[in-house]
Amino acid sequence: MTATLLWFRQDLRLTDHPALQAAIARGEPVIPVFLWCPDEEGEWAPGAAARWWLHQSLGTLARDLERLGSQLVIRQGKDSLAALRKLIKDTGATAVYWSRRYEPLVVARDRHIKELLRAEGFEARSFNAALLIEPWDVQNLSGKPFQVFTPFWRRVITDLAPPAPLPAPKKPLSPAHWPSGITLEALRLMPKIHWHGGLQQTWSPGERGAAKLLDAFLDGPVKDYGDTRNLPAVSGTSRLSPHLHFGELSPRQVWHAAPKWRSSQFMTEIGWREFTHHLLYHFPRTTNEPLRGEFARFPWRDNERELAAWQRGQTGIPLVDAGMRELWETGWMHNRVRMVVASFLVKNLRMHWLHGARWFWDTLVDADLASNTLGWQWAAGCGADAAPYFRVFNPASQAEKFDPDNEYIRRWIPELGGKSAKAYPPPIVDLKVSRESALAAFKTLRGR
Ligand SMILES: Cc1cc2nc3c(=O)[nH]c(=O)nc-3n(C[C@H](O)[C@H](O)[C@H](O)COP(=O)(O)OP(=O)(O)OC[C@H]3O[C@@H](n4cnc5c(N)ncnc54)[C@H](O)[C@@H]3O)c2cc1C
Repeated sequence: MTATLLWFRQDLRLTDHPALQAAIARGEPVIPVFLWCPDEEGEWAPGAAARWWLHQSLGTLARDLERLGSQLVIRQGKDSLAALRKLIKDTGATAVYWSRRYEPLVVARDRHIKELLRAEGFEARSFNAALLIEPWDVQNLSGKPFQVFTPFWRRVITDLAPPAPLPAPKKPLSPAHWPSGITLEALRLMPKIHWHGGLQQTWSPGERGAAKLLDAFLDGPVKDYGDTRNLPAVSGTSRLSPHLHFGELSPRQVWHAAPKWRSSQFMTEIGWREFTHHLLYHFPRTTNEPLRGEFARFPWRDNERELAAWQRGQTGIPLVDAGMRELWETGWMHNRVRMVVASFLVKNLRMHWLHGARWFWDTLVDADLASNTLGWQWAAGCGADAAPYFRVFNPASQAEKFDPDNEYIRRWIPELGGKSAKAYPPPIVDLKVSRESALAAFKTLRGR
């Protein structure tokens, strides 16, 4: 008995799946597996909202594989290498194929697995399924990674020609005997308490949901994206972020589905996703440390009560609270509002950006270590191509500009418009005073 193990990770799709196609091309039975070993990812193992998504997405993938006469073998443990060795033993597999990921602990783990399996005589191969271009293939003129987005994207897009997406396989060869696995439910990814009704109503995880959303976006909203993408009350953006994170859709598919929009603002945002992944790969310490070293000395404040008010959407600042409530209810928040709530936390409340990154990590369905790290370091002024620290967003003027009719704010804070206006709390900080104290704190950093 011999076989190829196809190790699914953040590539939960059948279309445009180079590792799957290569596994099939080996000509031996293909055994699709999913291994749940969250301890390996340390504090950045998937959070609660992402686990909900993962459960749905794995269920969809398993059903799609069954339609092809295949299966998804699920196992869990402390250690992916041990789980793979056991599967090799159980199946007689001679090769393990997977799609690459870029998070520091995962990169180190995968490198170790590849080396050991190869040393033991197995074929271990990884493929690009998540990016338009690999981090090691883009450098500035000094041979270093780019730290500024515009020249990075200009360089990437100049001669970008990603291969056309691969079709979904017809019917992979299956083994005569399937190895044992556990049920999806046994992974206990679903919340114990029922708080996920809003997620369920908002999203359709899985490859088909992703394709439908992309089609709908390219059919209409993409035309006005440049004008509407900053208006949180309007469905002007694609909402593809969780699908892209879980690999239910590849950026290559987006690129090829939208030939007219390759130099549009929308594709530039896909470029930001590339940029964040490249940065995380080249600067792995930034998940927990500022890219700009001087920020390690920044005088952050700690205040549990204010942090809890921010998390619950009870700061008394309408745009901030609307965003935090949208996040809690749907597992997603509009990008403009992400920038506003992040600025409020790191500047007006002057709390460490990691508090915000951790809360987002647990509550976002699109929680992605590359984009979340860059997003928070950008807001705090300590990351690559970051907003300068002294540029403090004013949530009131942001609301006037981007939610002029208060439509978004009223959607998420109904009590503001109704009789119960008194139930809405007063602001926990004065915007002007807190801005000035943030700027003063920033000055002490520069003065040293
Ligand atoms: C503090 C903060 C934290 C963030 N955390 C995450 C996160 O954990 N996961 C995540 O996917 N995005 C994150 N973002 C980036 C951005 O807010 C989301 O990608 C975007 O809102 C997703 O909505 P959309 O799919 O409708 O985007 P669209 O506007 O339709 O853009 C298309 C795609 O481009 C990518 N993209 C867009 N903007 C960015 C950006 N600024 N950085 C990186 N990629 C981008 C996403 O994959 C997105 O799906 C964060 C931004 C901030 C300010």
